[in-house]
Amino acid sequence: MPLDLIPLNQWFDKFDKPLIIAGPCSAESEEQILSTAKEIEMNEHVQVFRAGAWKPRTRPYTFEGHGEQALKWLSEVKKQSRLLVTTEVANAEHAELALKYGIDILWIGARTTVSPFAVQEIADVLKGTDIPVLVKNPINADLALWIGALERFNGAGIKKLGAIHRGFSTAEKTKWRNVPMWTIPIELKRQFPDLPIICDPSHITGKRSLVGEVCQKSLDVGMDGLMVETHLSPNDAWSDAAQQVTPTSLKEIITNLHIRESHSEDKDFGQKLEALRRQIDSIDNEILESLKLRMDIVKEIGKEKLRNNITPLQLTRMDSLMKERELKAASLGLKEKYISELFHTIHTESVKTQTSIMNNFKDDEKNERE
Ligand code: PEP
Ligand code: MN
Repeated sequence: MPLDLIPLNQWFDKFDKPLIIAGPCSAESEEQILSTAKEIEMNEHVQVFRAGAWKPRTRPYTFEGHGEQALKWLSEVKKQSRLLVTTEVANAEHAELALKYGIDILWIGARTTVSPFAVQEIADVLKGTDIPVLVKNPINADLALWIGALERFNGAGIKKLGAIHRGFSTAEKTKWRNVPMWTIPIELKRQFPDLPIICDPSHITGKRSLVGEVCQKSLDVGMDGLMVETHLSPNDAWSDAAQQVTPTSLKEIITNLHIRESHSEDKDFGQKLEALRRQIDSIDNEILESLKLRMDIVKEIGKEKLRNNITPLQLTRMDSLMKERELKAASLGLKEKYISELFHTIHTESVKTQTSIMNNFKDDEKNERE
């Protein structure tokens, strides 16, 4: 179902792209909130001030936020500066209080998006208001759950709706705190082109030195804004100390960003792009035809294996095939990981097809369910 949306630039007067949201992970004290907002306000690019009033933490016995008191500090920021304010709400009561204190924008945290009942109770409270809501992706890489939460708000009449990409938790140890898996927000954008997506590089990286590069990457893939955790003294922060940047670093990060256009009116460029894309289309067709030829041979081999009672999966063959393709890829200047993933997919489909032939499965679906 399509979402009924109001474009980002109509949410407030003078709302520019990229939309930049900055502020500390948590609201620690009134003094901290007001002095941080004062610093951040001097950065003309920042339009919204963030601070967590409630902090749903993975583990107990850590700081879980000042709650309602912090909303009073945020409403002071609103009075004393040009900045709009936003905070996280995780249940119906939070949402009621945020409305009472005039918070401009609400965000739904990753730990809340995973819970359809929590999302629904917040959506029910917001019915009849036109408050903008930004929905963070769920902790796990589940696009349907993310879309489901967006639909619940839209179903409650919230049309100023956006998403926040904050990366996904995985069991694997990687350089990221939460792996970005860019294909997921890109697919969300493909399905809902008018849905603004804000990138949260702080929770993706978990590390301030990587924040700048993720900001750039997100704009390069067409994200509409950034939410960057910013603290006056990051190392002393009560939560997420390692990933927060100072207002001065934030300024540097923003100044160094290349803001590229998603399209150009230049005719020469348009024609060049068109010609190059035609070449890509014809190469893609060749790839598809080659895959079809390859699959015909795979089926032929499947029948031979059946006649000779040989297993579809031959590990030594798989191993040598992967090694040879990776070597060839390296000699062509192609990334090893890219080619190995590609051939894993191709090889897995071959084995599936042969298993199907050899067991006389009616269709591949049966295999899929196993
Ligand atoms: C936050 O923005 O401070 C936060 C708690 O984020 P997330 O829900 O993405 O973990
Ligand atoms: Mn945080």
